[in-house]
Amino acid sequence: MTDLMARTEEVARKLPPVAEAGEPGRVNLPLLGALAAEGLLGEIFRRAGARYAPTSAMALCLIREGLARHCTEAETAFALQGLGAYPILLAGQPAVVREWIPRIAAGEVAVGFALTEPGAGSDAASLALSAVPVQGGFRLSGEKAFISNAPDAAVYSVFARTSDNGSRGITAFAVPGDVDGLTGTRQTLVSPHPIGRLRFEDVFVPATAVLGDVDAGWKVAMRTLDMFRPSVGAFALGMGQAALDAAVAYTADRQAFGRPLREFQAVSHQLADVATRLHAARLLVHDAAAAYDAGTGRTGHLSAMAKLFATETAQAAVDVAIQVHGARALEQGHLLEHLYREVRAPRIYEGASEIQREIIARHLYR
Ligand SMILES: Cc1cc2nc3c(=O)[nH]c(=O)nc-3n(C[C@H](O)[C@H](O)[C@H](O)COP(=O)(O)OP(=O)(O)OC[C@H]3O[C@@H](n4cnc5c(N)ncnc54)[C@H](O)[C@@H]3O)c2cc1C
Repeated sequence: MTDLMARTEEVARKLPPVAEAGEPGRVNLPLLGALAAEGLLGEIFRRAGARYAPTSAMALCLIREGLARHCTEAETAFALQGLGAYPILLAGQPAVVREWIPRIAAGEVAVGFALTEPGAGSDAASLALSAVPVQGGFRLSGEKAFISNAPDAAVYSVFARTSDNGSRGITAFAVPGDVDGLTGTRQTLVSPHPIGRLRFEDVFVPATAVLGDVDAGWKVAMRTLDMFRPSVGAFALGMGQAALDAAVAYTADRQAFGRPLREFQAVSHQLADVATRLHAARLLVHDAAAAYDAGTGRTGHLSAMAKLFATETAQAAVDVAIQVHGARALEQGHLLEHLYREVRAPRIYEGASEIQREIIARHLYR
């Protein structure tokens, strides 16, 4: 498995020029193509004869950390391809899997995971986008917001309300991006990220597009998110490690008051604390991934601990790295200026830190 991390890092070091050639905030198909050509997308869309098999949570973690250390844009493109496609891979009818997964795995098209709505974020089970049964399928009406890869994705895994029964009234669908009645607009975030709103106006989808069973879409969403949650921690960890690496290199060299910064204990001990916290975060992330892969019992609280600790630690790591660099880290285009903006979102998406604490607390009182 450590080979996978080393191989990923080797690939990741080659990707920044491909990432930089893309337009900020837009899907970068050449970058997806490179991730496929280098075999990384093949790691999460594994061929098992004529079929595709899901990967392990551990592999996801190793790849995401390895990419994040050297090219956050590649990491994001990679992760979104998995997040959007796994509902289809795990629960799509064979024809739907055959229609989309080979192109997604080849990096030819982008895919989106459409759960959040303007009125339903953390409380995603209260989503309102409706799917009304009609002859041969369903008609979807409503809005999604903050959907990564929207509006450029070729297909979305869309979660819609089919009955008035909370999380037991949600159905998942594979919806092509170019279907009649579906439109989208871009949203611009503090750190460029391909993301946007989607508007569904009486969009027809055939019954064959249902992922899993009608009214059982929440399970499809949770199966996907449970698998990906430790790896959000791994993404954050990769950014935190990149920040620490930069801080170590800089403070070994930079002179002040006649000696290198590393000789001031006030500097070196901050980095010692960061290294310790990152190591602890890595152990939590790998433990959660291993527990998920072992498939024994409930592991949600372990994933929640891993995501919570790793994302909060990464934010602190970047902050310390900026402090020991001084002003130059804040110059536009500096690695740490980029990481400072980039490290913020993982504390919010796929369950904000407060929601992770809720999951952990609920486990304590079970
Ligand atoms: C970069 C980025 C990419 C994203 N990509 C996607 C995507 O591809 N697909 C998708 O569906 N969504 C996506 N999202 C949306 C993301 O999942 C939501 O932002 C997230 O679920 C939080 O919802 P919200 O922003 O509406 O915040 P809210 O739910 O409005 O929460 C606001 C604050 O209240 C807190 N809060 C809420 N409930 C509780 C509670 N019970 N206890 C304590 N505190 C609480 C939250 O923790 C948060 O701090 C993305 C977001 C970002 C930033």
